[in-house]
Amino acid sequence: KWLKPERTVTTTCPFCGVGCQIDVGVSENRIVRVRGNRSPGSPNNGQLCVKGRFGLTFAESPERLKTPLVRTDDGFKPVSWDEAFKIITEALHKHRERSFGMLASARCTNEENYLAQKFTRLVMKSNNIDHCARLCHAPTVAGLRKAFGSGAMTNSIAELAYSGCIFVIGSNTTEQHPVIALKIKEAKRRGGKIIVADPRKIELTAIADVWLRHNPGTDVALILGMCKVIVDEGLIDKSFIEERCEGFEDFASSLEKLSLEEVETLTGVDIDDLKSAARMYATRRPSSIVYAMGITQHANGTENVLALANLSMLTGNIGKPSAGINPLRGQNNVQGSCDMGALPDLLPGYKSIKDPEVRRLFEKAWGCRLPEEPGLTVTEMFHAIDDGRIRAMYIIGENPVLSDPDAGQVVESLKKLEFLVVQDIFLSETARLAHVVLPAASALEKEGTFTNTERKVLRVRKALEPPGDALPDWEIICKIARRMGYGEQFSYKDPEEVMKEIASLTKIYGGISYDRLEKQPLQWPCPEPDHPGTPYLHGDGFMRGKGKFHVLQFRPSPERPDREYPYILTTGRILFHYHTGTMTRKVPDLNYLRPEEWVEMNLLDAQELGVTDGSWVEVSSRRGRVRAKAKVTERSPRGVVFMTFHFSETPTNNLTGALLDPVARIPELKVCPVKIQPI
Ligand code: SF4
Repeated sequence: KWLKPERTVTTTCPFCGVGCQIDVGVSENRIVRVRGNRSPGSPNNGQLCVKGRFGLTFAESPERLKTPLVRTDDGFKPVSWDEAFKIITEALHKHRERSFGMLASARCTNEENYLAQKFTRLVMKSNNIDHCARLCHAPTVAGLRKAFGSGAMTNSIAELAYSGCIFVIGSNTTEQHPVIALKIKEAKRRGGKIIVADPRKIELTAIADVWLRHNPGTDVALILGMCKVIVDEGLIDKSFIEERCEGFEDFASSLEKLSLEEVETLTGVDIDDLKSAARMYATRRPSSIVYAMGITQHANGTENVLALANLSMLTGNIGKPSAGINPLRGQNNVQGSCDMGALPDLLPGYKSIKDPEVRRLFEKAWGCRLPEEPGLTVTEMFHAIDDGRIRAMYIIGENPVLSDPDAGQVVESLKKLEFLVVQDIFLSETARLAHVVLPAASALEKEGTFTNTERKVLRVRKALEPPGDALPDWEIICKIARRMGYGEQFSYKDPEEVMKEIASLTKIYGGISYDRLEKQPLQWPCPEPDHPGTPYLHGDGFMRGKGKFHVLQFRPSPERPDREYPYILTTGRILFHYHTGTMTRKVPDLNYLRPEEWVEMNLLDAQELGVTDGSWVEVSSRRGRVRAKAKVTERSPRGVVFMTFHFSETPTNNLTGALLDPVARIPELKVCPVKIQPI
């Protein structure tokens, strides 16, 4: 039946990193209407995509976890919170220090991520904490920090509409960040130029002034080629470079050895198109760069990011309104979970765990001694399980069984743990392997904050009561910590108290409070209670002092097609689903729009293999094999196939490998050699 809303709660969309503000109409503890919110500072100004408008009913799914579960020989048995806590605390007491690992979550609030890292460091005495940023924007944090001193999106979403040129590389923005794509289209309507670099034909290529269809994994060569054109044609911003940057001479001379013919051979991009793109980006200022996982999910992801930083500094397109570098974050709070220190080497506010002064500050506030050695990353933790170094894990709201590379091996590793506790809203593929499963409240059922891709801290407000005995993640973490003897340090009465502690210890959040957020969202750095927030970074100078050019060389992907595995698989997301599908697959409307995985392949490849549209194929790599229906399409170039990781029936990450970027430790997820056989 159609119900009129009894009340409306303004909160933040729980899906992608745009952080759209939504007005959720509620009646009888059910969502009866969702509208985009237009209040000041709202990143979406009333606009929403299909997931935000129609995808929230996952919260009402009968499959929600309602009570703690303990694994027995006969399957999972419901237990009370008391029983679950007793088992967990006994097990965790045995595995303090290095044998423990925590996966925090980009779907949890800032306050919850702060508590997860505090729990790991203080209670478990370990720095083994990481989360899904390792699989998406770890190269952004590493690369942009090296170049500028801060690893965040430099500008605001709204500024994109006023860019003279937008260079979109490795971002299928209309599918993955639809509301940001609207700003790109608005820039075009205002007369801006659009350059798209993508091996696949995506929706934005239709409005692109130049489409650079480069070979997968050749981004560094492509970007260096653009830099060379800009330097050779004298299109650099000399005074910007002289006043604000260092390392230019070395970088410029490294380009002398590069030939555009070589770039053309490596990338497959015509020299004339490369030149047009370079001239457009350099001359149509202010120019913005937009990128996502097509840049970062590579074994050379950090170099890709550094190459983009070089390009922006060359032309002075950084530190100004509508001119900057905009890494689009995938999950709703991936920015915030990094800000909060859910990382193995960094405390909240990106402070190094190795710095004794930083440690002293947190030790004084928390009343403890902190472990000094950086911990293990997600992928390293799975290897550490295999060789017995990690024996217990606490996973909150992540589903590595579907999201992580070489997923078959991830399952084997998790099965070896002596103790695994998983906290989630559904019995995910990972939760099924746990010894204890804890039922969590969803983002619609708790208070807190998320920080969106543009560094904007947004309120999350409770619209619904959680089902059964489910509790907010922050409350569960505190209860476990208190049972383990840390009552004083985990005695918060609500998330607002946690935010007060965050603000007191984290300079970039120093001026953020719930009182201020009631009026409007704030963008960090916001160091003081009267600071207005920072719409764009590096205006008064780079955070590291001078912006640093890096000399780079193109390194081909270590994963290359050969006779046995002749196609390149590249993975990504689609509009109708989100991440491993844990939430959106529970929404009948979204599942109707896209119920199954497709292997997108080029018509000529399909003809050669005798594959027709809709027929079943087996895709195999050196790691595993999966089956799905073929989608014959001109979106894929010859030799490249595309799949998502949204569908548990087709666990695409069984195919991908865990070759790591040497700096950011992110795996190569965009270039995976496979073979395809019709079934
Ligand atoms: Fe939600 Fe992202 Fe869609 Fe906005 S663009 S409604 S944040 S999924």
